Amino acid sequence: MASLSFLRRNGGFGLQKGIISAGVTALRAKLSTEASAIKLEASSFNSGLSFELSEELQQLQEMARKFSREEIVPVAAHHDQTGEYPWDIIKKAHALGLINGHIPEEYGGPALGVLDGCVITEELSYGCSGIQTAIEANSLAEMPVILAGNKEQKKKYLGRMIEEPLMAAYCVSEPGAGSDVASIGTKAVKKGDEYVINGQKMWITNGGVANWYFVLARTDANAGAGKAFTGFIVERDSPGVTVGRKEWNMGQKASDTRGITFEDVVVPKENVLGGEGIGFKIAMGAFDKTRPPVASSAVGLAQRAMEEALKYSLERKTMGRPIAQHQAVNFMLADMAIGIETARLATRRAAWEVDQGRRNTYYASVAKCLAGDVANKCAADAVQIFGGAGFNTEYPVEKLMRDAKIFQIYEGTAQIQRLIIGRELIEKAKMNAL
Ligand SMILES: Cc1cc2nc3c(=O)[nH]c(=O)nc-3n(C[C@H](O)[C@H](O)[C@H](O)COP(=O)(O)OP(=O)(O)OC[C@H]3O[C@@H](n4cnc5c(N)ncnc54)[C@H](O)[C@@H]3O)c2cc1C
Repeated sequence: MASLSFLRRNGGFGLQKGIISAGVTALRAKLSTEASAIKLEASSFNSGLSFELSEELQQLQEMARKFSREEIVPVAAHHDQTGEYPWDIIKKAHALGLINGHIPEEYGGPALGVLDGCVITEELSYGCSGIQTAIEANSLAEMPVILAGNKEQKKKYLGRMIEEPLMAAYCVSEPGAGSDVASIGTKAVKKGDEYVINGQKMWITNGGVANWYFVLARTDANAGAGKAFTGFIVERDSPGVTVGRKEWNMGQKASDTRGITFEDVVVPKENVLGGEGIGFKIAMGAFDKTRPPVASSAVGLAQRAMEEALKYSLERKTMGRPIAQHQAVNFMLADMAIGIETARLATRRAAWEVDQGRRNTYYASVAKCLAGDVANKCAADAVQIFGGAGFNTEYPVEKLMRDAKIFQIYEGTAQIQRLIIGRELIEKAKMNAL
């Protein structure tokens, strides 16, 4: 792929091992100079918001788009039909730096921002959101380490992700606890300089292919959620870790979902993240940075649904005209566009807020909730526009409809997002901050 060398030659994102630091440092300096210039200009001319991606982000988008169209789109149906894990694509994405993007420079990563990650994610998901989920699950597992890990932990566990195309998994949900994270039953008991973990996790993305896990376990039976849990890094090959069968889900079949059992798994105290009792905060804090990319993934799927439906509706004729010219169909397309435009804006806002160093919980939930709903509406309407063909596996849209559903479930269901948004509104009202 020519794009990476193109980016390098043009002083854009340096995304590959070895060239990452120089490229991104130069880019950061350039951006900060540009940002000051823009601030000055904005105050002088009151020019308002910019909705344009920076030149560097446009290059990154172009690179991810090319990768998605050339590498993912042609094999998406195969992975959907077979459930085969997309190792080939992951290796290529790794070589290009399109995976593990947020790992800091000092551990070999490109230190991309959340907005940068969203731009990549949308493009990859356009090709196949199942493959994109497999890639994104690394970010979810790595985020607690980035947020709370010490230097040694970061070097050891993030560093290896850059050196080789490895996967990691975030183990929080259990058979009896998903939305209600505070009720998880996995326990970790301290014995000398070690902890012994027992429990069962469920629905773990990358569960069967991960090199290491982030595991949330209860360390205090009596404390409230804020102090009861601790986050651990657990090596996949630790004795007592048993990986369950691959779950055969409705959609996103390229992604690997499994139950994981921890039976007397001994973890050294060096693998505790941030200290005992702060696991809940770390596990939930990760979502502020990972929900915007999940929302972007939903937007990518919605965009694909709209484009497929538009193309088909211009070719398919009934009553003497392309169906796109029947107002009922045309309005469905218009509604798709309205959803996609607004969900993309909400997503970029959520990403931008956290990139500014501000708490974005409210915006992340708005984006994730809206984009999940939009993806489902767009995919269902695309099937409708395809008519009978939409219901058939020979055409691409039924896969989109199956794949879309999970966006209203994982990383917090649509109901939980609304619960968070509602809670934030009440908090703001109490503080007179609305
Ligand atoms: C394909 C897939 C991949 C996943 N990947 C991961 C992963 O990598 N790591 C991980 O830890 N987890 C993962 N999950 C788990 C996922 O996050 C949970 O399934 C999700 O949070 C919902 O939890 P649950 O399934 O227990 O449903 P429940 O919590 O039992 O919810 C059932 C229903 O009740 C609603 N509900 C629950 N509580 C409330 C409430 N207070 N108010 C209103 N409505 C409520 C929910 O919205 C939902 O509609 C994955 C799940 C799937 C299916």
